[in-house]
Amino acid sequence: MTTILQTDKLKNFIAGEWQEANPTVAVHNPATGQEIVHVPLSGKTEVDQAVEAAKQAQKDWSLVPAPQRAEVLYQVGILMKERKEMLSQLLTMENGKVLEEARGEVQEGIDMAFYMAGEGRRLFGQTTPAELKDKFAMSQRCPVGVVGIITPWNFPIAIATWKSFPAIVAGNAVVWKPATETPIMAYELAKIFAEAGLPKGVLNVVFGSGASVGDAMVHHEAIRVISFTGSNDTGRDIAASCGRQLKKVSLEMGGKNAVIVMDDADLDLAAEGIIWSAFGTSGQRCTACSRVIVHEKVKQQLEERLLMKVEELTIGNGLDKTVQVGPIINRQGLEKIKKYVQLGKEEGATLLAGGEEWSSKDGDLGGYFFAPTIFTDATASMRIAQEEIFGPVVSLISVTDFDEAIEVNNQVAYGLSSSIFTKDVNRVFRAQRDLDTGIVYVNAGTTGAEIHLPFGGTKGTGNGHRDSGVQALDVFTEWKAIYVDF
Ligand code: GLU
Repeated sequence: MTTILQTDKLKNFIAGEWQEANPTVAVHNPATGQEIVHVPLSGKTEVDQAVEAAKQAQKDWSLVPAPQRAEVLYQVGILMKERKEMLSQLLTMENGKVLEEARGEVQEGIDMAFYMAGEGRRLFGQTTPAELKDKFAMSQRCPVGVVGIITPWNFPIAIATWKSFPAIVAGNAVVWKPATETPIMAYELAKIFAEAGLPKGVLNVVFGSGASVGDAMVHHEAIRVISFTGSNDTGRDIAASCGRQLKKVSLEMGGKNAVIVMDDADLDLAAEGIIWSAFGTSGQRCTACSRVIVHEKVKQQLEERLLMKVEELTIGNGLDKTVQVGPIINRQGLEKIKKYVQLGKEEGATLLAGGEEWSSKDGDLGGYFFAPTIFTDATASMRIAQEEIFGPVVSLISVTDFDEAIEVNNQVAYGLSSSIFTKDVNRVFRAQRDLDTGIVYVNAGTTGAEIHLPFGGTKGTGNGHRDSGVQALDVFTEWKAIYVDF
């Protein structure tokens, strides 16, 4: 393994100590197939230990004034900034995304640290007029206690910061289960928290599978909130279980995001936006563009532009500076993409570009690659236009007018991110009102969410909660109403 990761076997981080757990499983670099580290497959015992440590630590942590809690996050931000390059390289190694995107993701975490450090000085409550005389009425945010966060492999550090930073600044203690595919970011972030002076037990990391660690967290009565980003099926199971326990749950479960291209759009700009939001991170983003809803009048011109651009994309190991599209996370992910491409052909869509596994001319790189793929002549009801593929596959659907474009956009089970390319200001305002998604972009692709804004969506994407933005604090706090008679 590379010298920048100073271990070949990761340990859990419980009560401020690194604790070995067995068995372990190998983690592979998706670009090369090489083993990079071993990660524990923990179980209920480790979750119980972590929750106990969190419970103990949370009592004192909640009494630390919020601006002082924020000071720790500020230090976390400084350390992340100092280590940005090292973190980015490790991120590329474990996740595969190209180095430039990895840098962007780490930067998002740094921004989140400083943003939430600021929120520690702004944990505002309210005073309100009282109904009766000689009575003072106010409300304040209170921590919920111990929170469980379950994070995915596609944004192993950014999503962890979206959840753990607001939780911690609000005075909670955290038990965190990172994805087993990408444990290195969790290991590095835990080290940073410890160095930044976070008291022992406020952040605990337990590595392991969803079926074992995740399940034990969801069922632990002392965990009062579960914040989960991941697949729809798992999210629904978690919600059902949390519902029975009256446990608060925040879910982010993907999207089937569309770019709408109207007949008055700047087609070069639209093609650029589509290419990067469809094929950046090899399409493995919840916000990835997987549908293009194009006005029939400009369909052919857009196809020509997309074809030109897709042919120029360089594929390979993300550590190579010339590479723009990295690997697929693992064999399972690759097989799913292949299945959907086959399905698209059977459903009658026309394959315009890609459609197969990619391999380097210089020989097998050892990883999992799929060529950026474009289907055209798809219809809104095809499964390739309805189901989340989580890979570099985009389908063009043509429409005759604006209203039909909005209708097609909204005709899916998910509601995360939408975009519209148009120069007509009236269409812009109608689109931002009528698109049934949590995020709307105008004249930009569907990816690249802002941490200052709430991240999440409607329908099958989530359950009304948001990651990031000041709204993230709503997940990790309870409101308390206080009356003082005088
Ligand atoms: N940060 C990503 C974006 O803005 C999305 C995160 C995700 O895929 O879950 O597009």
